[in-house]
Amino acid sequence: MRIEIVNTGTELLLGHTLNTHGAWLGGELFKLGLRVARQTCVPDGEAIREALVEALGRADGVIVTGGLGPTSDDLTREITAELLGLDLVQDAGALASLEAFFAIRQRPMASDNLKQVYIPRGALALPNPNGTAPGVYVAADLAGRPHGAIFLLPGPPRELYPMFLAEVAPRLRLLSGVAAPPDLLEMKFTGIGESDFHQSLDASLAAIPGLEFGYCAHIGEVDLRLIGCAAAIQQARALAVEYFGPQLVSDDGSSLEETVVRLLSERGWTLATAESCCGGLIASRITDVPGASAVFTHGFVTYSNEAKRGLLGVTAEALETHGAVSEPVVRQMAEGALAASGANLAVAVTGIAGPSGGSPEKPIGTAWIAVAQRGGATRAWRVFQPRNRLDFKLGVSQAALDGLRQCLGELAG
Ligand code: AMP
Ligand code: MG
Repeated sequence: MRIEIVNTGTELLLGHTLNTHGAWLGGELFKLGLRVARQTCVPDGEAIREALVEALGRADGVIVTGGLGPTSDDLTREITAELLGLDLVQDAGALASLEAFFAIRQRPMASDNLKQVYIPRGALALPNPNGTAPGVYVAADLAGRPHGAIFLLPGPPRELYPMFLAEVAPRLRLLSGVAAPPDLLEMKFTGIGESDFHQSLDASLAAIPGLEFGYCAHIGEVDLRLIGCAAAIQQARALAVEYFGPQLVSDDGSSLEETVVRLLSERGWTLATAESCCGGLIASRITDVPGASAVFTHGFVTYSNEAKRGLLGVTAEALETHGAVSEPVVRQMAEGALAASGANLAVAVTGIAGPSGGSPEKPIGTAWIAVAQRGGATRAWRVFQPRNRLDFKLGVSQAALDGLRQCLGELAG
């Protein structure tokens, strides 16, 4: 079943409102075993006409969002009826619901609201317990000529989501005849890029019958998406683990920080952080994870040299001889955090975010990371992330968390 979405709303095209309906509906349709073939976004008013004509020309099911309100720019109902050659008629059930909506809230109803209970003749009004505008379901071919099923849904997410789940999903399940969605596995990797996958894995993955695969790159992370039958996914997963097992963060949707917290919990270890250039981002990401309090003890944000000396015991000599962004300093930061916190593990970062402060030896984007371990050797390494400040912080925090993950032991393949 080919599904298309038409989003209406001038605010979506002005950048005032993020068009979240496409993403949400895409996720819900996937759970039904359906895919969005195309999504079109048009301003309020007449523009919906052309979008609807085109979508109806291609799709077996069209979901239109927005434009069901009582104002003059909300023309979704009118244009749909006109295109199909159907009259708009008052729906008695929808009228009763609308009157009840205002009665319960002890508010007078403006007469303009009545416009919302007019729906194309023969179509079905979809109850909206969370708002005034009912949705509309026009069955396929209702107007006597071939067209797909049409669903008109209200714009506000808190009205659209429940209406989709209660009224649209069951109808699409019946119409499509799809019993269950294919399996989906998302594998998250760090320390490798999309091109590594391309070079080593693409051809082998493409040869697996019944497998659909794709990549999604983020800062310091690549996700491999596998869709298909269970056997095809397992074959692909095994290949990915064979090539990139040590870089595998999770295959259950867990983020890198969730994986680090889980590994710490499993070992009964505690963690402290000592951050200069990330400004507390690593601690923030760790504490985003429920259960972090059991494993996270201290987060030092030591931005100045005085803070590095006073809180972490970094020596003046190391700072003067090597500079704040250097291997000796990052080692002392990690070991100082370990000593001050009593944790089992400490991670430290120091770097040059820019836009100023770079030099030929230490260009903007240079950072040092160290992981110190109680009773073990301290590891330190340099990374280079010449990006804007926010992406630099994210990239360095990603590399530091990945260092922790590796130190805590690779995931079992
Ligand atoms: P409407 O019924 O089209 O006037 O939409 C009313 C409300 O829903 C407004 O606050 C919109 O910003 C919001 N809305 C409409 N379409 C979308 C969309 N595609 N994504 C997120 N919010 C939306
Ligand atoms: Mg609108």
